[in-house]
Amino acid sequence: MDITSDLKKISGENILTSQEELIPYMRDASPFHGEQPLAVAIPENVMELSHIVKYCYDHDILMVSRGGGSSLTGSSVPLGKGIVISLAKFDKILETKIEDRYVVAESGVRLDTLNEHLSNFDHFYPPDPASSRICTVGGTISTNSGGLRGAMYGVTKDWVLGMEVVLPSGEIVQFGGKTLKRSAGYDFTSLMIGSEGTIGIITKAILKIWPKPEKTGRILSYYEKIESGGKALAGLKAKGINPLIAEFMDRISLESMRVAKGIGYPERTNYMLMIDIASTAESLERQMNDAAEILKEFNPISLKLTTDKREMNEMYEARKGLYSTLLSQRKSASEYLILGDVVVPASELPAALNEIERAIKKHGIFVSIFGHIGDGNIHANIFSDPADVEKMRRVDNFQMELGRIAVSHGGSVSAEHGVGIEKKELLKEEFTMRNSPGTLSLMKAVKLAIDPKNLMNRGKIFD
Ligand SMILES: Cc1cc2nc3c(=O)[nH]c(=O)nc-3n(C[C@H](O)[C@H](O)[C@H](O)COP(=O)(O)OP(=O)(O)OC[C@H]3O[C@@H](n4cnc5c(N)ncnc54)[C@H](O)[C@@H]3O)c2cc1C
Repeated sequence: MDITSDLKKISGENILTSQEELIPYMRDASPFHGEQPLAVAIPENVMELSHIVKYCYDHDILMVSRGGGSSLTGSSVPLGKGIVISLAKFDKILETKIEDRYVVAESGVRLDTLNEHLSNFDHFYPPDPASSRICTVGGTISTNSGGLRGAMYGVTKDWVLGMEVVLPSGEIVQFGGKTLKRSAGYDFTSLMIGSEGTIGIITKAILKIWPKPEKTGRILSYYEKIESGGKALAGLKAKGINPLIAEFMDRISLESMRVAKGIGYPERTNYMLMIDIASTAESLERQMNDAAEILKEFNPISLKLTTDKREMNEMYEARKGLYSTLLSQRKSASEYLILGDVVVPASELPAALNEIERAIKKHGIFVSIFGHIGDGNIHANIFSDPADVEKMRRVDNFQMELGRIAVSHGGSVSAEHGVGIEKKELLKEEFTMRNSPGTLSLMKAVKLAIDPKNLMNRGKIFD
């Protein structure tokens, strides 16, 4: 059997086989390294994809689907000898139905491209990961991505109505549909969300869309103590104010934005809360003032209100770029960042943040904390050095403790980045702590029912 020439018979020029073309597919945005794939297939349509998948299934060849390759947990890294299937050519927006509030997009469409298209209709697709320029519809569904607007609009799972999927056998199936309601047996659309390419390849999706908010304004509040941000947010919610965006950044993050983007902050600041309020033109000012009054109760160093679009956009882009600007705070060039990603109920934030701060000190590591705090999502960004074995051990121990803190407060070891390779042990720990090892066994049983040969993205989520 000559796999590459067989695949070329199905897909011709859409099969990459030379080493220099394959090497980039060994990695994603995480620190993990995979094996060089036997080939990379970049099919142009669902029939071609289905034939490739069927060939792989019949010949026991491992498959890893790939969108933008921006996974931070190694979920798109190929483990073992197999092929990578890129959805790069599934890049069309097929239908936009404003009156029914949905859009149908192929799975390789990038989120920013989708939103550029929707802004022509004064609508948008709310899930908004900081990687929105590069990540795709299929990748974000497969990891149940969140992002900045989660405080008001939730995460990807709240916006997917249906999809077309190529199963591991090559069969093409349709899940869900174009209606908000559907009570027609098992909900396979939901099963696909967060499945990280382990049970099928999404080729197109029907996504809910929403009218753009009429007007937005921003309040920046600066604090000395870590728990103040969490308490201030809880205070807003308790008074019925639901921010569009609620982001939290520590001094290390702010300093990196000052170095990279020239955005300053008051001297005594250790933590900043960025709150966006969305409203009608008539009531925005009143709502911002109400929110500011509540924020003042938590002793901010200072408070800044703005509706200036340019200024707001500058800070928004800087926040989205934090992952890379943070690298300016490295102590040595060999350091890289591991992005911790946990979630707790928003009311638990003050206590959880305090425990995380104590854990950072205990493990003696350098960590920057920021997060989509509006939905309880904390990112602990750990400066790590693979050359320093002892430090990496402390980093691993901190990651385990971070996960345990989240679960003990009623949260999860993974908020929005998925499990991939990175969090397999943590996922086990979560179900152990919740006295529910059966959940993991059930996940494995579902995987094997749909993919009996375990060919799709083997070694991700669980072993
Ligand atoms: C700078 C930066 C910032 C980030 N910020 C955020 C953030 O704010 N919020 C957040 O949630 N995430 C964030 N991420 C993580 C990442 O962008 C998300 O996990 C995103 O959903 C991955 O999408 P992708 O298209 O790049 O998928 P990939 O990385 O290519 O793949 C991710 C997983 O999905 C599977 N997959 C991809 N396409 C398909 C398909 N069509 N069918 C089936 N399975 C598929 C892959 O096999 C893999 O398991 C960030 C990443 C970076 C690098």
